[in-house]
Amino acid sequence: MSRLRAIVLGAAAGGGYPQWNCRCPVCRLAWQGDKRVRARTQASVAVSKDGENWVLLNAAPDLRAQIAATPALHPTGMACTASSQDARGSPIKAVVLTGAEVDQVAGLLDMRERQPFTIYGSAETLASVADNPIFAVLAPEVVARTTVGLERPFEAAGIEIELFAVPGKVPLYLERGEPDVTELAEESGANVGIELRAGGARLVFVPGAALINEALAARFAKADVVMLDGTLFTDDEMIRNGSGTKTGRRMGHMPVGGANGSLAALSRLPGRRIFIHINNTNPILVDGSPERLQVEAAGVEVAEDGMEIVL
Ligand SMILES: [Zn+2]
Repeated sequence: MSRLRAIVLGAAAGGGYPQWNCRCPVCRLAWQGDKRVRARTQASVAVSKDGENWVLLNAAPDLRAQIAATPALHPTGMACTASSQDARGSPIKAVVLTGAEVDQVAGLLDMRERQPFTIYGSAETLASVADNPIFAVLAPEVVARTTVGLERPFEAAGIEIELFAVPGKVPLYLERGEPDVTELAEESGANVGIELRAGGARLVFVPGAALINEALAARFAKADVVMLDGTLFTDDEMIRNGSGTKTGRRMGHMPVGGANGSLAALSRLPGRRIFIHINNTNPILVDGSPERLQVEAAGVEVAEDGMEIVL
């Protein structure tokens, strides 16, 4: 019997792959139907201990389509009974948030049909959600919002879960002026990672990291599975291919490649290592690209929608 089961609902960064308004060299392949690439929705993972009760790690704007594509998350209600109350039900018991970016919270709006579940997040994240009145569609008497402290384990769906600070930055829409270098890699509750533990198995989910510090490296070393920020391969990738004006570090994401990149850090660690939250400009999305081969040679995987991980 498995201890933890995870399903990648979406593997792409904000905007998804391909992005609706982008014809960068990597998106172009998807628009052309090239067999070396596969479309990906925005990053989210579903995790379960018993296969019946599920926890979502972030709620991406693609959540409705992600649920449709994932039989384990289909409604559990009894459509054949006369009582309309029995028709409603979902195996999704909780959503745990790593931040309040659009690609992390917008899917909550798809969950507004008076279905009880619990949203867990840091004080900073839940304050950002509370500040936006549109999330009041999740009626508080139905959908609980539970603030959890960093490194204070709690339980959801029988899984022990812990939030921890990850160097990063506040959501783009909450920036007040141009952030300085320290604000781009600040450790706060605004950008966290999630560790999930059951039966001795450990899965760590970090979709956004500005750098891997010692605490993070130590946590990764103890995990059976690490799902890490794979946003950009090179820091200036979006500038060079004309799809943006910001570096990865400016967006709070360290690059995959290079001597100080996340690939170098991951290749030194044991266990299963998987890149997730991959931007549409990142050439690791292309089967057989030099960058993809470099990742595979280091023993690191590239997440795809529907990928299942059993611990
Ligand atoms: Zn693109």
